[in-house]
Amino acid sequence: MARPALEALQVQRLGEVLPHAYSHSALHRGLWDRAGIQPGDVDGLEDFVKLVPTFDKDTVRRVGAARGDPFGGLLCVAADQLSVLGSSSGTTGDPTPLPQQARGPLVHGIDRDFWELGARVGDAISYANFTFRAGHAAERFERLRLRPIFIDHEPAEVSALMAASRRFRPTVLYVINNPMILAIEAHFQKSGDDPIEAFSSYRCAVFGGEPMAARSRRRVAEWGLDIREMTALGDVCAAIECRERVGFHAWEDLVLVESVAPDGNDPVADGERGELVVTSLTERAAPVIRYRSGDIIELDRRRCACGRTHARFRVLGRKGDRVVVQGRILLPRDVWSAIESIPATSAGLFQIVRERPDADRLRLRVGFEDTVPPLGLAADVASAVEAAIGLLPVVELVTNEELLKQGPPHKIPRVTSS
Ligand SMILES: [Zn+2]
Repeated sequence: MARPALEALQVQRLGEVLPHAYSHSALHRGLWDRAGIQPGDVDGLEDFVKLVPTFDKDTVRRVGAARGDPFGGLLCVAADQLSVLGSSSGTTGDPTPLPQQARGPLVHGIDRDFWELGARVGDAISYANFTFRAGHAAERFERLRLRPIFIDHEPAEVSALMAASRRFRPTVLYVINNPMILAIEAHFQKSGDDPIEAFSSYRCAVFGGEPMAARSRRRVAEWGLDIREMTALGDVCAAIECRERVGFHAWEDLVLVESVAPDGNDPVADGERGELVVTSLTERAAPVIRYRSGDIIELDRRRCACGRTHARFRVLGRKGDRVVVQGRILLPRDVWSAIESIPATSAGLFQIVRERPDADRLRLRVGFEDTVPPLGLAADVASAVEAAIGLLPVVELVTNEELLKQGPPHKIPRVTSS
């Protein structure tokens, strides 16, 4: 769909979802009443962005606690109207309930994604999805006339996955993550099977749930798998890379996507860093209107080489991990590769030390192997980082062992205040 027609459709759908949310959602009604606006005041996308207040997960928690409501004042339909009650993973707090109706945007978007992944009528599909979000969604496969092979998303199930791959010759593997890839690697080492032969029926595999480690990417490429990363589009639905691998495609007829200044309300230009803000256009169970996702993104609305006109975006990190140095927003991933490129610090163990919100110098605490750092290591790390981001950091060296004491095993907070 050409952009002007897409925007006209978004305006039409906003005209339906805004009165629905205002009438049925205590959270949205409360926010808009305080802002002194009503759905009828919004005339077009420009008004929408200017007038309608944003909210975030803290707002949902606050409204939920005040009302004793597990849905945080977002649920707009009676419980018997729901087909699935899933939840987020709860990685950074209590899991958020995700109530859904049949054929909501989550289901609808993934239907289309399956086509791009190469699934065709009659194909077998290896379906190892995280069930906490949306159950098994078995009815989808009947509708799409695909043959799902349900496998638990669980490293212990890898031998079942490989046996099913041989027997049914599935064309799509949906979805694997870093622990699954490690388990698959161990399976091949133990069994002596040929990975290329074992995966030869797959047109695509989908990676989701967390950022993909460089090591996992190399491994999967060796197995001959065409892998596409997937991310959440602000808890409304999923967004998957297309064959061009130039970011995650949003389905903009289902979800209105904005990039907004992380600490304010000004729109951020395409290609610059902003916070992903989403609005459900077709969801009626618990639509979110201008929900701040906490994801820092770069949005691109130009037509993609794959032919799609819907926006795509790169995810650069989480809002809570930002540091501002000389007015520039930096995230841990900006310096990660530079630090990994030096042999003594190749484990990529480091922290950004954020002493104040806006600093003059970037301060890094970087872990090194062994007990005594090689001569000139701090300067080497600093110049590698400077080459990557154009800012010379202050580097403090500590042993990897010392740094790992900062967190649970093999994981450390990437941004710290001291
Ligand atoms: Zn594309």
